Formats: sequence, structure tokens, C-alpha cells
Amino acid sequence: MLLKDKVAVITGAAGINGLGFAAARLMASHGARVVILDLAQAEPAAAAARIGDGHLGLVANVTDKASCDAAAAAAIQQFGRIDILVNNAGITQAAKTLEISGADYDRILDVSLRGTMYMSQAVLPTMQQQRNGSIICISSVSAQRGGGILGGPHYSAAKAGVLGLARAMAREFGPDGIRVNSIAPGLIGTDIIKGKLTEEKKADIAETIPLARLGRADDIGGACVFLASDLSLYCTGITLDVNGGMLIH
Ligand code: NAD
Repeated sequence: MLLKDKVAVITGAAGINGLGFAAARLMASHGARVVILDLAQAEPAAAAARIGDGHLGLVANVTDKASCDAAAAAAIQQFGRIDILVNNAGITQAAKTLEISGADYDRILDVSLRGTMYMSQAVLPTMQQQRNGSIICISSVSAQRGGGILGGPHYSAAKAGVLGLARAMAREFGPDGIRVNSIAPGLIGTDIIKGKLTEEKKADIAETIPLARLGRADDIGGACVFLASDLSLYCTGITLDVNGGMLIH
């Protein structure tokens, strides 16, 4: 039970095939009470109920500051504290630089980058009072190598921005006992890539990966449990690569 009695808030976690839901499920299996945040159409309350009793699902749009603040307040009202935040919500778009409109740029950056800042701002005062907290930000291998497989340059920029924001927050809030770390997933088989790659293309990509397969949602969930738990007490400002060796640097 690595997370006994901890309260974990996870954004964009209602999709049962997604990284956020895998993190929520694994955290719950380690004793955490989880708060699943997502857009209304993703039905976060139903997702929380799937995990079992004693968890909470709330509608929250991470691009809206008031919505983030309200979600944090509701989590605190229900559980009295917030120990863990996973900034997981993100959207992607396959587009070339010259095709990216202002609206595309705003949309893609707002969910990953603005959302990471707003939701972190919503939980940080509570974590400061507790003098304890772990914030985990989901970036991407795309930030590190200038493109993953599917996302455009604006997605790479959003995810690189997440790394910078997480590192800066790690510096600022370390003295308060709050750790902030990032995970850079490689290509993981979730809904975000659904219908976008043929089986043949996936097999071709797997051949280029040292561990010879695409990632699974639980691969990221496990990394989240590690960074949330006391196993990583002396880690802050790090980027944990979970990519099967797709990028070794
Ligand atoms: P996913 O599409 O299953 O999950 C994304 C979730 O975010 C969805 O549930 C969606 O409803 C939610 N969301 C979208 N906009 C939101 C908003 N404004 N407010 C709140 N929630 C919102 O995809 P996933 O693969 O599970 O992605 C999770 C994270 O991992 C994303 O940040 C993604 O960029 C990142 N990532 C994924 C991969 C991959 O290969 N799957 C690789 C690297 C990084």
C-alpha cells in the first residue's frame, strides 16, 4: 500500500483506456482515494464509480481557472486534503507548422500547458499548508525529440512548456515540501492514437523500439504511483522517460 490514505486528483482521467484512468486505478489499488476530473461528456462520476466506493468524479475543464478552483475545493470538502495532483489532461493534433491556425495553437496549448498551470495553482495553497505534496505533469517524448509520432509542432511546444513549468514549480515549491516531476511517455496505446495508426504501422514502430512494443496505459500508471509515493521522496524537477527506449539520451 504505497499510497495509503493519500488523496489524488487526476485531470483528464475518465477515459477507461487512458493514462489518467490507469493512474487512478493503480493509485486506488495502493490505498489512495482518487478524484477523477474530466469534461462532462467523458462522465467522470461514472469513471470514479468504476474504480470502487470512496472515490469522486467531478466535471472540470482544466482550461478554465474557476472550474479548476471549484474542483480543488470540492475535493478538499470531500476528503479534507490533496496529496497528489496528476496533470494528465491533454489533446493532440497532427498538423504541420504552416497549417497550424491561431485557434489550433490555443486549443492544444491551453489543455496541456494552461491546464497544468491552473490546476497546479488550484492545489498548491493546500499543499503548502500541509507542507507536503506531489505534482506529476504528463509531458511527452514529443517534447524531447521534436515530435512524437502523431502530434504537430504545437503539441511538442505545449509538452516542452509543461517540462519547463514543472521544473520551475519544483524549484519554487521544494522548500514547502512539495515535489513536482514530469513523465515523458513514448507511444502508448490509448484513445488518443485510436484509428490513427494501422496495425502494420504500429508493428513498424515497435520494431524501432528497444523494448519492442508500444507502451500500455499501466506503464505510465506505475510511473505515476512511483512519483506520487514516498519511494521518490528525493526526486523533484525530474523527467521520467517511459518510452521503451524509443528515446535514450
Ligand atoms: P486520452 O485522449 O485518452 O485522454 C485525455 C483526456 O483528457 C480525455 O479523457 C479528455 O476528455 C480529457 N480532456 C481533454 N480536454 C480536457 C479539458 N479541457 N479539461 C479536462 N479534461 C480534458 O489520451 P491519453 O493518451 O490517455 O493522454 C493522456 C495524456 O498523456 C495527455 O496529456 C497526452 O498528451 C499524454 N501523452 C499521451 C501519449 C500516448 O501515446 N497516448 C504519449 C505522450 C503523452
